Amino acid sequence: MNLNTKQVTWNQNRGVGFLTFPALERLPFLSHAFSTRLGGVSQQEFSSLNLAFGRGDSDRNVLENYRRICAAVGLKADSMVSSAQVHKTVVRRVGRQNCGEGFTKPQMEGVDGLITNEPGVTLVTHHADCVPLYFADPVRKAVGLSHAGWRGTAAGMGAETVRSMVREFHSRPQDLICVIGPSIGPCCFEVDFPVYEVFAGMKDLSPQDWTREDGGGKYHIDLWQVNRRILMSAGVPDQNIFISGFCTQCHPDLLFSHRASHGKRGGLSAFLALRGNSDAD
Ligand SMILES: [Zn+2]
Repeated sequence: MNLNTKQVTWNQNRGVGFLTFPALERLPFLSHAFSTRLGGVSQQEFSSLNLAFGRGDSDRNVLENYRRICAAVGLKADSMVSSAQVHKTVVRRVGRQNCGEGFTKPQMEGVDGLITNEPGVTLVTHHADCVPLYFADPVRKAVGLSHAGWRGTAAGMGAETVRSMVREFHSRPQDLICVIGPSIGPCCFEVDFPVYEVFAGMKDLSPQDWTREDGGGKYHIDLWQVNRRILMSAGVPDQNIFISGFCTQCHPDLLFSHRASHGKRGGLSAFLALRGNSDAD
């Protein structure tokens, strides 16, 4: 399989397929990945690398899938931290004491963004069309990872994550490298008027550039471009923002898509960590 583009690298290791992004591959102090459906133990609609708990697959399968992708990417499974996402913009700073939350320990509720400056802490967010936002600060050596569906995108999740890194780690927005990861693309994200209205109202972000009226009460929105504009408005330079350009709904064999599957699906995860001295690679 060759899915490589300028912004996405296809990887396969130990039978597990995952995506990485050249913009982050260039940063030797971090490890990152975005999962695919390939290389897990789950069956039927969860086939096969389902990383979502609580959708009908067994926890045992999901944990085994996490173990497999961590081994493939070179992450320690017991270093993962995740939270229960609610399509809002709460960003939480985590550290080593939080490792295991959402996997072997209870998770914090109501958090859609995670940031850390501690090596060996793997941030994990959950996706199946919603946009993953990766943040790396090569100067302060800090990272952030956020979940931004259309609600989170419209509420400014990208800018909120930047502000959190500025506040907690004294990051400068102009130093940040951001990747807008695989998610539902402008090709497929069709919405009705109430959702369109939310985005069309973002007047200072030139919505005419990333919304389209199709007629019949249907509209298309480019969530990648909205997120790009929001990150720029938070001070991240345009040349530091990379859009993976990979649509989940266009790749149903490779990625879980909520829309493509009408909700009968497993889940994907994004991973981001500062490398520790003792990491495998
Ligand atoms: Zn698409």
